[in-house]
Amino acid sequence: MSSAPLNLYDFTRAGLTALVAEWGLSPVHAARLWNYLYYESTDTLAAMSDLPARLKTRLEAETTLGRLPIARETHSSDGFTRKYLLALADAHRIETVLMRYTGRVTACVSSQVGCAMGCVFCATGQMGYTRHLTTGEIVAQAVHVDRVLRATAGSAPALAEPGAVSPHHRHERLRNIVFMGMGEPLHNYDAVMKAIDILCDSAGMALGAKKISVSTVGVIPGIVRLADERRPVHLAVSLHGATQAERLALVPAARAWPLDQLMDACRYYTAKLERRIFFEWTLIEGKNDGQDQAHAVGSLLRGMPAQVNLIPLNPTAGYAGAPSHNAAAKQFQSILAGYGLPSTVRQRRGIDIGAGCGQLAVAD
Ligand code: SF4
Repeated sequence: MSSAPLNLYDFTRAGLTALVAEWGLSPVHAARLWNYLYYESTDTLAAMSDLPARLKTRLEAETTLGRLPIARETHSSDGFTRKYLLALADAHRIETVLMRYTGRVTACVSSQVGCAMGCVFCATGQMGYTRHLTTGEIVAQAVHVDRVLRATAGSAPALAEPGAVSPHHRHERLRNIVFMGMGEPLHNYDAVMKAIDILCDSAGMALGAKKISVSTVGVIPGIVRLADERRPVHLAVSLHGATQAERLALVPAARAWPLDQLMDACRYYTAKLERRIFFEWTLIEGKNDGQDQAHAVGSLLRGMPAQVNLIPLNPTAGYAGAPSHNAAAKQFQSILAGYGLPSTVRQRRGIDIGAGCGQLAVAD
């Protein structure tokens, strides 16, 4: 027996079935266990009442259910966002965010403790990199959010933050995930993709891959792999600057993956998968929100299947920039439209609790 217990959330369904078979037990029991993990989001082995005793004994001795205890939970004043500081087994901590938009709930999931990419306006980047998350630690965040939604299903008082509740918010399950939390998901490619495979398994949480967005600062090898492996998730590429020099000033990773090579990789992706890319653009007042920059983005992306998501800068302690005003965002959008590029201005969520884009960081 290995000394470190196996995290059940690290296993694909095939892997779990093989483990249970190694123990001399039927695939039927593996299927029941999988059902507990991902269909019922059961949170303890003890609550898995109809597994055979022999299986439970092995599970209790050799595995762990890698739930991530909540170290702190904060709710935004508008009631639409909840941020969870979750504790990892090695005492590191990460943040996961539950966001309510009109008609949907989205989990913003972390992929690393900290981040090595160092985007200047991002609180996670300002922390530096500590380590990759395991598949199980990524899966556990999604299961956590799903469990929160189930726990509050049908109980209006539990969801009764001001402005947050409407009857259609009841009986929810998690259906949307964005890998836009702490870390660069394509820097932790294997663990992230295995987690996505687990979460999309049709016999479990059965998330649609098209309801999952993976956001990258421009890790070219990861973009090429996504295309070559024909991964059906959405891809979001953080651009922030439309020339190499302007991008490099905000995104140090542009030194390793220059803009022209990044655009080649993006064209490879869109051609191979016949799918558009979402380009993220943090709007910083007086820095990258001018008409010249909007025209530069238009020229850069013209003809590519693309949508631009404009995100007014969210405040962080380590960066002095300010968010663009609505008028600048609207003007930026109308210039992009002239190049045939659809765009949105991101709804801001959870800014008052540091849960917005670029704000996630672990601080006591
Ligand atoms: S924006 Fe994303 S890639 Fe950049 S430092 Fe923050 S977490 Fe890392």
